[in-house]
Amino acid sequence: MKNRLRLAPSPTGLLHIGTARTALFNWLYAKKNKGKFLLRIEDTDTSRSKHEFTKNILEGLTWLGLNWDEAPINQSERIEVHKEVIKKLLDQGVAYRCFMSEKESQQLRESQKNNGLPPKHDNRYRDLSKSKIESFINEGKSSVIRFKIDDDAEITWNDQIRGEIKWFGKDLGGDMVLSRRANGYDIGSPLYNLAVVIDDNFMNITNVIRGEDHISNTAKQILIYKALKYELPKFSHTPLILNSEGKKLSKRDSVTSIDEFREMGYLPDALTNYMALLGWSPKSCENEIQSLEKLSKTFDLKDVNKAGAKFNWEKLNWINSQYIKNMDSHDLFNIIKVFWEKKGWEIPSQKWGLNLTLLIQDSIVVLKEVIDQSEPFFKLPEVDKKGVDFLKNNHVKSILKDVINLLITKNQTIDHNDAKEIIDHISVKYKIKKGILLKSLRIAFFGCLSGPDLIRSWLLLSEKGEDILRIKKCLDII
Ligand code: GLU
Repeated sequence: MKNRLRLAPSPTGLLHIGTARTALFNWLYAKKNKGKFLLRIEDTDTSRSKHEFTKNILEGLTWLGLNWDEAPINQSERIEVHKEVIKKLLDQGVAYRCFMSEKESQQLRESQKNNGLPPKHDNRYRDLSKSKIESFINEGKSSVIRFKIDDDAEITWNDQIRGEIKWFGKDLGGDMVLSRRANGYDIGSPLYNLAVVIDDNFMNITNVIRGEDHISNTAKQILIYKALKYELPKFSHTPLILNSEGKKLSKRDSVTSIDEFREMGYLPDALTNYMALLGWSPKSCENEIQSLEKLSKTFDLKDVNKAGAKFNWEKLNWINSQYIKNMDSHDLFNIIKVFWEKKGWEIPSQKWGLNLTLLIQDSIVVLKEVIDQSEPFFKLPEVDKKGVDFLKNNHVKSILKDVINLLITKNQTIDHNDAKEIIDHISVKYKIKKGILLKSLRIAFFGCLSGPDLIRSWLLLSEKGEDILRIKKCLDII
């Protein structure tokens, strides 16, 4: 059968980097194996699921380029099907009604705690007679449906990332709850482990790739697969993404939603490239910088590590800067233009905007830096302390005056040769190193001693008609 993979997000929050990475691994596997990548929105928890989160998840995946191949399925629309299956499991005798009250559960937990035992359901309502069930219901007791898990049950599967995994029934917390509490003979709303099996089977999912935090769920789900005689998909459990302290990256770690990465100025291609490397190591001969297209050819679950993957901002920044560097400058200009427009900064011409883009392109790490790096070309500078000290040097005042005079003789926007000519002329006249002149000009233009290539910057100011103005303003403070 054709490979069919899926992402099954719960719309209870914004698209998180962990979910996006799971989506990416599923997507890459589907593409590599000429299969399909599908979506199922697991929205049965009505108190926490929100339509706006579904929207955010779909938009985030689209922005990342992780398109899906069939219309997304909403799990909430399949609740009746899930309930029918629960009835079948009840009829088969592998599931039963459990009338344990909240008070009883609490007492059990407390006594286990006092005896130093881990919390585990004790299956006390497993073998009720029909008449007992009837009398409990007549008394008005509510119930959940539980699936029987025998302590000596052995569950094994060959995980595509971790190899053979073995679980014992006794380690699964007792009989598993399939549905929420309901009155009478009703069945409450079905829970994740039950619904996921039915829906993965319904969608003909062949490979389930999800985070390692689902390993014990997989063991439980395999028991349901077997009871329903469904064919098992292949399972793969990816390593978790860890924060700098080695703990699971969570909402508490400053930036974790895809929206935030987007706002900070990471490019979608750079982010998917980085996410692919979170847990996956390409074979040594392969370059780490790989487009989504290339990744979908090289990605292999065999090379995914078992150990958690630490989130590394430096690496993400480096990858992003590489993508910006290698981007077509016209495309970058179109992105940068939007930042300038938002600031209300006007460019004298398209060519000028493109030239400024070219000037800063190699030094941008994340897009939002565009603001700081281009601001000196839009706003007149304040001279900083080091600049003020430098201006006290001999000759600086007369040098700058001479530059103005020479510029006036040009009477137009200068080009590269004009600028070089002026610099040569003045350094010969004053018998000074060109560096002194370049520093003087940099302070006059930008108020400080650092910045991008001076001549290219000068030409941009000249085209804007601001070079003379800025030098004059600087002379005022000398
Ligand atoms: N809704 C589950 C989650 O978001 C799906 C897990 C799975 O892939 O089975 O964690």
